[in-house]
Amino acid sequence: RTVSASGSVSTDSDRTPVRVDSQDSQVSDGEAVDRPWPRQNSLSMREWDIPFDELRMGDALGTGHFGTVYRGNWHGDVAIKVLNMNYLDDEKTLEGFKLDVATFRKTRHENLVLFMGACMKPPRLAIVTSMCKGYTLYTHIHVYKDKFTMNKTASLAQQISQGMGYLHARGIVHKDLKTKNIFLENGKVVITDFGLFNVTKLCFRNRKGDGLSIPPGWLCYLAPEIVRSLRAHQKPEDDDLPFSKPTDIYAFGTVWYELLCGEWPFKGQPPEAIIWQVGKGMKQTLANLQASRDVKDILMMCWSYRAADRPDFVCLHKTLEKLPKKRLARSPSHPIHLSRSAES
Ligand code: ADP
Ligand code: MG
Repeated sequence: RTVSASGSVSTDSDRTPVRVDSQDSQVSDGEAVDRPWPRQNSLSMREWDIPFDELRMGDALGTGHFGTVYRGNWHGDVAIKVLNMNYLDDEKTLEGFKLDVATFRKTRHENLVLFMGACMKPPRLAIVTSMCKGYTLYTHIHVYKDKFTMNKTASLAQQISQGMGYLHARGIVHKDLKTKNIFLENGKVVITDFGLFNVTKLCFRNRKGDGLSIPPGWLCYLAPEIVRSLRAHQKPEDDDLPFSKPTDIYAFGTVWYELLCGEWPFKGQPPEAIIWQVGKGMKQTLANLQASRDVKDILMMCWSYRAADRPDFVCLHKTLEKLPKKRLARSPSHPIHLSRSAES
């Protein structure tokens, strides 16, 4: 057990939510060096606090679940995710945001976007990360209709499982793994938007109207246990969805399917039909997918109805590594049509 400079007690600096009162902390850096505990508490939050005025904002790149992302400059090109918040009146919402930041700053992996800092003074809350070059897998697959060779597909999936395996090893559940959150930079996979769930909750709260609104393309990443807990008048802050490591694995299965087939599972079906099928344990048929048994097995394992039956990312990575390497891109058993290649 350690006692921090500001008097809070923690048992495990890595697991225990950090104190998040960076602004009013009276502790100076000098004081901290003399103390035996890790620099993991309130003090180090300040290192990640970027004054909003220091950011040069550029064009908006797009708007997602929880705000608008801008191109920007802060010691170089950055992406600035500004939270869309009409109200921020209680301490709890700010603490939630700071907990997300605390999670984010613990990540260092070549397949994860680089977290640079955050603006933590309400009402201007923003997250600053490196600017990803290249396109998302979503754009490659669904917009440009790029086709990847089997070797490339396996390499992308291995990199995703490596980045995700790292997150899980650190106790972080992504909760929003999808091709829109995976960039491809010169053949390297970069995963974004992990561990931002408190933020998502905040923004749900700001929604007007009721009824369950399902962003397009979101449903097919949701595991049966999540689909079954969706309610017509879902209020995520009242009734948290049961995200977990196995629900990330389920989402990975869908990404693997998109890579192989160039489309989403349950393509063209209305949300109600997808909810009903997934909730009952039915899966997208693989009858038309020309791929080897091993390749299809990965899909079936990731989409297992029972969370406990899904593999973990370490196991998935090993399986993906073992997929036979094909020298000829156009071998007859090649699962994908190679009209256009996205090899880089
Ligand atoms: P979504 O992930 O659902 O597309 P986001 O709010 O995460 O929604 O992103 C909005 C837009 O900003 C998207 O076009 C996304 O590709 C882009 N974007 C988000 N983060 C980055 C980043 N780090 N680098 C470059 N573009 C980004
Ligand atoms: Mg995103």
